[in-house]
Amino acid sequence: MGSKKLQMREIKKIIIHCSDSEFGDAALIDKWHKERGWTGIGYHYVILNGCRKATMTGFQPYKKEDDGIIQQGRAVEVVGAHCEGQNQDSIGICLIGKEHFSAKQLYVSLPNLIRDLFYGYGIVSGQVFGHYEFNPQKTCPNIDMPILKEYIRKIFVK
Ligand SMILES: [Zn+2]
Repeated sequence: MGSKKLQMREIKKIIIHCSDSEFGDAALIDKWHKERGWTGIGYHYVILNGCRKATMTGFQPYKKEDDGIIQQGRAVEVVGAHCEGQNQDSIGICLIGKEHFSAKQLYVSLPNLIRDLFYGYGIVSGQVFGHYEFNPQKTCPNIDMPILKEYIRKIFVK
């Protein structure tokens, strides 16, 4: 790849999304977003649910070793395309899933990633939001955000 170094932007918050699909990974979302005419994946991180790819008969069966994997999407330095009006100063995380998510996604990978991003980018603790909090017409990420926020707050405050 080129040697041009990307300039870091100021990150103030994290916005959680879901893929609204039963399966997928960063490569597949990149493909979907390109098919919409975008420059590529709009999220910065993707957290897998264990079912990665579509097959002729549906989607790949659950694989334990794929559950909870955190993949990089768009570079964090680059403004995302995931939440209208909020992209400039945010990081977008997408959980693969529609309405149900794995325990590993919700209780291991997501909190770990959020913690690393808080520390790494100096984000004020608590600045985690669900997509629907900025767009009431949406239900994304189909997670009860007050419960998730309380869970994250508890594990961070020791
Ligand atoms: Zn969303």
